[in-house]
Amino acid sequence: MKKVLFAASAVGLFAVGSAFAQDVEIATWSGFRKGAASFTFDDGAPSHVTDAGPMFKKYGYKATFNVVVNWNPNWSGFQGLADEGHEIASHSNTHGNNMSGEEASSKSAIEGKIKQKYGVITVAYPNCNVPNESAVLQNYIVGRICNGSWKGMADEMGKDGPSNWAQVPATMTGAEGQLKSTNDFTGRMQKVIQSNGWAAFLTHGFQGKNNGNANYSPTDINAIDGALKWAQQNDKDIWVAPMGHVAMYLKERKASKAQASSSGSTITVKLTHNIKDNISNYDYPLSLRVKYSGSTANVTQAGAKLESKIDGGYVYFDAVPNAGDIVIAGEGGSGPTPESSSSVEPPASSSSATNPASSSSVTNPWGPWNPQSSSGTDAIEDIAFTNQHFSVYRSSDNYIVVGGAQGMPITVYNHMGQVVRVTRGLGFEQKVYSGAKGAYIVRVGNRTFKVNL
Ligand SMILES: [Zn+2]
Repeated sequence: MKKVLFAASAVGLFAVGSAFAQDVEIATWSGFRKGAASFTFDDGAPSHVTDAGPMFKKYGYKATFNVVVNWNPNWSGFQGLADEGHEIASHSNTHGNNMSGEEASSKSAIEGKIKQKYGVITVAYPNCNVPNESAVLQNYIVGRICNGSWKGMADEMGKDGPSNWAQVPATMTGAEGQLKSTNDFTGRMQKVIQSNGWAAFLTHGFQGKNNGNANYSPTDINAIDGALKWAQQNDKDIWVAPMGHVAMYLKERKASKAQASSSGSTITVKLTHNIKDNISNYDYPLSLRVKYSGSTANVTQAGAKLESKIDGGYVYFDAVPNAGDIVIAGEGGSGPTPESSSSVEPPASSSSATNPASSSSVTNPWGPWNPQSSSGTDAIEDIAFTNQHFSVYRSSDNYIVVGGAQGMPITVYNHMGQVVRVTRGLGFEQKVYSGAKGAYIVRVGNRTFKVNL
C-alpha cells in the first residue's frame, strides 16, 4: 500500500489517495459564485431591443425577455437578442387578466418565431395571476409570479430555489416597485451573495424610452446600468444569468451525481442525472472542481477539450451532464489531445496551443494591431460578433466564448500576437479561453474578432 502511494506521488501529478467520489464538487452556482441574479423584462417593449439589449451587451450579461404574442413584438429584434444568448420567454398570447388556456399555445407561437438554444422554457404571468399550474408545469420549467412577499414569501430564494416552480418570485422594479435605484438592486444582490441564494427582478419599460405597451412602473435605466456595473465588479461572487438558465442549472445541480475514478495519471469523472420531462434536456453546463495536485491539466469531455484552470489544489471546469466521460490528464500525459488532430489553423501554432510561453515567435498574421488604442480601462469592447452560424463574446465570468462554429478551427491570440489557444468549434457554446486582463484576437474559421477580457 505504501509503495502504491509513493508511486502515485512520485509521478508528480496527484495527491496521495488520488480522486475519490468526495473529491468532486458541483458548484452551487455557475463559476463557484456565491449567489445568482436574474433580470426579467415583461411586455416585449421596443426599448427592450433598442436600450436593454445594448446595455446588457456592454457588460457581457444576459437577461430574460417575456413577450406577448398578440402584441406583435419586434420579432427580428428579439431574435437578435436570442442570438446573443438572451432568453426569450412567454408572457401569454393576449395579456388577459389570467392566462389560463394560453400556457401551451403561447409557448409554441413564440417557438415558431424565435429560434434559441433552449427553447421557450419559462413563462411570466400577466398581471401576476397564477394560471393553471399543472398546464404551466407541463410546458415550462419556471412560472414567474411577482413579488414573493405578496404571497407571504420572501422575494429572494435560497440555493434550492422556490418551493413551487409554478410560483417563482421576482421583485418589481420602477415607479410602482420596490427597486428604484442602483443601491436597491445591489442590496438584493449582496443579500443573495450572503445567503447563497437567487434573486430575480421584474422590469417593464424605462423612463423616457419607447416602451410600447410596457408602460407600467417605468424604471430608470441608469439604475439597472449601475446594477450591472456593480455586478461586473463583483462577478466572482454574483452570477447574472437568465431565469431559465439559472433554473436549469439549479435543477441539474440538485439531480446530478459526479463520480471520479483514477487510473494511472488520468482521472475520469462521470457527471449524470436522470431528470426527464418534455421541456428541457437539462444540458446547461455545470461548474465542477476536482481535487488535483498537478500544475497543468488537459480536460476533455467525450474527446472535446474543455476550458479549465488550476487553483488551490483543484482543477475547475464546466461540463454538460449526460454528455460523456470527463477525462483529466496532465498536459503531455496520456489523455486525449483533440487539438493536435489535423488541419488546425494556423498550423505553426497547434503544438503550442496549451503552452503560450513557448509560442513567443508566433506573430499575429493579421497585420499591426495596437490594443492600446481601445478606450478606457473599464470599457468593454462591444463583444465581437454574432450571426446565424456562430458567435464570439466575453462571458460574464470573463471567458472568451464561441458559440456554434461546429468543426471550425478557433485560435486565440494575446496582445503580443502569441497563440494562447487552439481548438475546434463544438457546435454549442464553449469557453475557449480565460486569462490575463487585456485584448485578444479570436480567429474563427477565416474571420477575426477582438475581445477584451
Ligand atoms: Zn405584462
